Amino acid sequence: MSDTNHIRQPERSTAPFRSLSVAIERASTVVFDDLDSFEQRGANLYDGFSYGLYGTPTSRVLEDHIAELEGGTRALLTPSGLSAIVVATMACAVAGDRVLLPDSVYGPAKDMALGILAPLGVEVCIYNPLVGGGIGEILTDQTRLVWVESPGSLSFEAQDVPAIVRAAHARGIRVAADNTWASHLFFRPLEHGVDISMQALSKHASGHGDLLLGSVAVRDVELFRRLKDVARLMGYGVSPDDCALCERGLKTMPVRMRHSAMTAATLIEWLKAQPSVAQILHPAQPGHPGHDIWKRDFSGAPGVFGIVFKHFPRDFQAAALAQLKVFRIGASWGGVQSLVAPSVPRKGRSFSNGIVDGPYWRMSIGLEDCSDLINDLSLALSVFDQVNGSPAANAFGGSAE
Ligand SMILES: *Cc1c(COP(=O)(O)O)cnc(C)c1O
Repeated sequence: MSDTNHIRQPERSTAPFRSLSVAIERASTVVFDDLDSFEQRGANLYDGFSYGLYGTPTSRVLEDHIAELEGGTRALLTPSGLSAIVVATMACAVAGDRVLLPDSVYGPAKDMALGILAPLGVEVCIYNPLVGGGIGEILTDQTRLVWVESPGSLSFEAQDVPAIVRAAHARGIRVAADNTWASHLFFRPLEHGVDISMQALSKHASGHGDLLLGSVAVRDVELFRRLKDVARLMGYGVSPDDCALCERGLKTMPVRMRHSAMTAATLIEWLKAQPSVAQILHPAQPGHPGHDIWKRDFSGAPGVFGIVFKHFPRDFQAAALAQLKVFRIGASWGGVQSLVAPSVPRKGRSFSNGIVDGPYWRMSIGLEDCSDLINDLSLALSVFDQVNGSPAANAFGGSAE
């Protein structure tokens, strides 16, 4: 048997075969039958296939699915949520242009804009997420793109997206939304006039904390082509295996999200009665400053929220977290596993976000039994209760961070 025989695989059977799942077709190389079709492959860039980096039948199925769910005409996949933010921003702005990001935007997006785009000559302006229609006052002739993220990362400010869209569109400026928290299930940016709806599919859509993917969905096909050009020329491609896993995740996404939202609502009621809890950050809570906007624009809320605790020394935070057996400590969210991410929602912020001083945990509620989650948290919080009730707490004083 020659080496060549080992390379050439048998022809695929032409017998009819259809499974319920999306076919995983892996490729860097895409093969063509003749010189003509090879030389013409550039014509396949947006709607067909020419090279694995530019898409496979597997990634196209997921793109078409996201486009449909977002109410757009086309969607583009990128290797992560953050790369989707890079692609959307770079598709709209070049050197000399101005881009606006809310103070509450996903932290690495702010770091990317200030650390990568600003040195390349894009003017980056960080604005108060609560500005609403008042954003008109900071739009200039150079402004090309306004990002919104509602509610904001860690601090959960709800933004008046329709008012921001009206002000931006009045000056011909595009609006992009990072809709990772709500997903298309609970908020549909394109229906509110947003031009680019972005999601980190790594979160709710994939749903198991084991893959990275991002998406941008648009109504305008010309804009889609521009996004695709930026993505391919930056060398962003996606794995068909990840796309198939994400497509599988989409099928259970509504059931998972509704279930974890219900558990989160029960958990929040319990948390509000705990003496160590100072603040719950979740726009679905009556009394949250963005509650009315949330009620007007959203059809639901996922089980992702923040807890601010009353002061206690840092040592006790480690001791409290060490009690957790059901919750795990980790970043990201939207998966079946409940997570706690101790964070600092005031860090790097230019505008006051109304969050009281104190240790902060960002919670993502998964699919475990609610009673197990409450038991787990009550063990952790009993550590705080001890310290807050003891004279030692006052001796240490101050924030844990
Ligand atoms: C996680 C997240 C991202 C980035 O997604 P990755 O796939 O982890 O790069 C972007 N925006 C928001 C709001 C996120 O929560």
